[in-house]
Amino acid sequence: MLPPALEMVRKLVATPSVSSPDDRFDQSNRGVIDLVADWAAEIGFAVRIEALSGRSGKANLIATLGEGDEGLVLSGHTDTVPYNAERWTDDPFVLTERDGKLHGLGTADMKGFFAAALHAIARFEAGELRHPITLLGTADEESTMNGARALAEHGERFGRYAIIGEPTGLRPVRKHKGVFYVQVRVGGEAGHASNPSLGVNAIEGLQRVLAALQSWRDAIGQRHRDDEFEVPTPTLNFGRIRGGDSPNRICAECALDLDIRLLPGMARAAVVAELRDVVGNALRGGPWTFDVRATGAYADAFAGPSDTEFAGAVETLCGCSAATALFGTEAPFLAELGLQTLILGAGDIAVAHQPDEYVTIAAIERATDLYASLIQRFCIEST
Ligand SMILES: [Zn+2]
Repeated sequence: MLPPALEMVRKLVATPSVSSPDDRFDQSNRGVIDLVADWAAEIGFAVRIEALSGRSGKANLIATLGEGDEGLVLSGHTDTVPYNAERWTDDPFVLTERDGKLHGLGTADMKGFFAAALHAIARFEAGELRHPITLLGTADEESTMNGARALAEHGERFGRYAIIGEPTGLRPVRKHKGVFYVQVRVGGEAGHASNPSLGVNAIEGLQRVLAALQSWRDAIGQRHRDDEFEVPTPTLNFGRIRGGDSPNRICAECALDLDIRLLPGMARAAVVAELRDVVGNALRGGPWTFDVRATGAYADAFAGPSDTEFAGAVETLCGCSAATALFGTEAPFLAELGLQTLILGAGDIAVAHQPDEYVTIAAIERATDLYASLIQRFCIEST
């Protein structure tokens, strides 16, 4: 017997699993993997825990019920983003219920998913299944996507259809943007502030770069557009700027960190090359040096087919057409394995990565019903 869903979410939230590219915040996800693995085993799953190479304390969970090449995959990540405890009303690791809302780090994104998925599966007996159900729990979605990447590299398909339970407000999502980070560094030469000729000011070079990037952003927005997205153009965010050491010294170096979100079909390498040209042109004729480098590929853009039996069935069940999202997910990796993939889960992406993150009890119950209907349709009725 599984514990009640609320109890499961409480335990998952109480088990820290922050992932971050910054070692000061990064934690193992093994506690969450073990909890989900134990519950999955409890309801008859064959459970595999696969450690990620090169990163200690990180693992993926692959739990399978039934046999065969077809069937349904329910997939979620087991990690959370870092948090600012002082901005939370209550302890982020203590599930706190207020007005039907379950507050806690990772409730919406996406520990609540595992409670919904396991309870949906528990409604069926293994003997009823014509096609298998696979439950995936991945590591490091919020930092490197290395968990999903390891699954994609391994090449095992697990099934024919996949649902990723990221928070979509229970509306299916079949398309999202790609997200990656770029750092632009501008180099100058330090010197005494009293005489500009004693150095080369990197901040003044970066000022040219900023102006050029703003124009370039407008230009790529003219060239690339997809009106299915709420923000129909690629985006470029100036996220962080660092440089200099003192007001009375000429700034020798500064760095600008960008978040760039591309539409499906745009090639990341080509965009980076274009960006490098923009920076080079902005600084041409000046005394600065520069460097442009991709510092992380967070997620590739994803566009699944809209006219499949699977997409149609999910849309009918949800009572709405599939939408688009502005955030990245592991969907490109599952699609690479040959799985028809949609994103569908309880909770609102707007509360994810925020203090007082929550998911409602009603949404977890609704997600459980939807996942159960999909199991019925694609693991039992489907020939
Ligand atoms: Zn997520």
